[in-house]
Amino acid sequence: MKFLEDKIRAEGTVLPGHVLKVGHFANHMIDITLLREMARELARLYAGDGVTKVLTIEASGIALAAATALEMNIPMVFAKKNATANVSGEVYSAKVASFTHKKVYDVIVPRDYLSPDDRVLIVDDFLAQGNALMGLIDIVGKAGASVAGCGIIIEKGFQGGGDALRARGIRVESLAIVESMDADTGVITFRGE
Ligand code: 5GP
Repeated sequence: MKFLEDKIRAEGTVLPGHVLKVGHFANHMIDITLLREMARELARLYAGDGVTKVLTIEASGIALAAATALEMNIPMVFAKKNATANVSGEVYSAKVASFTHKKVYDVIVPRDYLSPDDRVLIVDDFLAQGNALMGLIDIVGKAGASVAGCGIIIEKGFQGGGDALRARGIRVESLAIVESMDADTGVITFRGE
């Protein structure tokens, strides 16, 4: 989405450690007009694919997931990050290494929120190395449900997670793909430029 790329370039901040900050419009304070456009685009891309649920991971994927689910008129579910592993057996869980917090979480979804009949669209704000998405794909698999694909606001293409998932045959739709970003100069380039 060209206007998203323009907004990232104009308002995003590149931090050391390959972190892009877009917290004042994409995932902390949220530009609601932009959110609606992004959700509509994901709903358009996955229309006709039989999607029954939108799945994300707390906290920063929730806004996009809810808006996308609203556009598709289906429920949305978010995986919670737990400090400790599940022992009760009432949840599906997966381990996710957090890119921004440098920790490993157990992420959990109650078993009765996903069923083998579900076709799941997984969404998140960022895609870097792909750990968050792989954890969510793992959970969908444990539920016996199928993955329609993934929908991402910003993929950092140079970190390889998106292309690794595509190579596994998983559909990944990213609304903007950053190909390079420089913390010293602040210069950001997008895939295809
Ligand atoms: P991955 O699991 O693909 O390595 O990283 C994706 C997760 O880390 C997302 O859930 C996102 O919240 C966080 N993340 C990764 N890179 C960035 C970034 O550059 N900026 C922000 N704000 N979050 C990021």
